[in-house]
Amino acid sequence: MQQGRAESSSESGEQQKHMSMNLPTFIASDLEGVFIPEIWIAVAEKTGIQELRLTTREVSDYDELMKMRLRVLAEHKLKIQDVQAVIATMDPLPGAPEMIDWIRERTRLVIITDSFYDFLVPFNPKLGFPTIFAHSLTVERDGSVSGYNLRLPHGKRKAVHALRELGFRVMAFGDSYNDTAMLSEANFGALFKPPANVVADFPQFPVANDYTGLKALISEFVRIPGQ
Ligand SMILES: [Mg+2]
Repeated sequence: MQQGRAESSSESGEQQKHMSMNLPTFIASDLEGVFIPEIWIAVAEKTGIQELRLTTREVSDYDELMKMRLRVLAEHKLKIQDVQAVIATMDPLPGAPEMIDWIRERTRLVIITDSFYDFLVPFNPKLGFPTIFAHSLTVERDGSVSGYNLRLPHGKRKAVHALRELGFRVMAFGDSYNDTAMLSEANFGALFKPPANVVADFPQFPVANDYTGLKALISEFVRIPGQ
């Protein structure tokens, strides 16, 4: 009896898998470390402000980290225009615009980042204006940055969850700890050029170390069943 039940549940699992294979695909990607360099690190290097090098690896509380960053910007009298001017000197990672085009020729793409729309303005044309889900900053009339607003908490994971609810089969990839929840939420999650500690902590995710490897994983994911 128990065995029979196990068989039928595995059959329905197979059926579900087969049905899900017929759903249209959607790709959800991280931004920093995948298509562009880490913005705060670049700003730290170009301004010489060492405190801005700190990331969630050193300061695990994101709110504490962001408040520190905004305080440091205020202390150095850096306005949003100053930070944008630094960001405007940055380029996407080599091959990133072509990689984005390659994905969009094959399926749908949304880039989901914990960065801010106010910072990404200079990158939009360099990346070919992809759809990006980001957060936003509170900018005063004089350009000073007085706060930050998360569009919603756990935005990466919730976006992938919502795409699946909308009837898509979703592949997600990213390079770091803040991506692993959306990778788990997706039908298929992969790490792109992750640091060794992320690979060690999340051995369940396949790893692509360059765009060639990523294209192979995406090709496998978006392939049309029966072909
Ligand atoms: Mg990243």
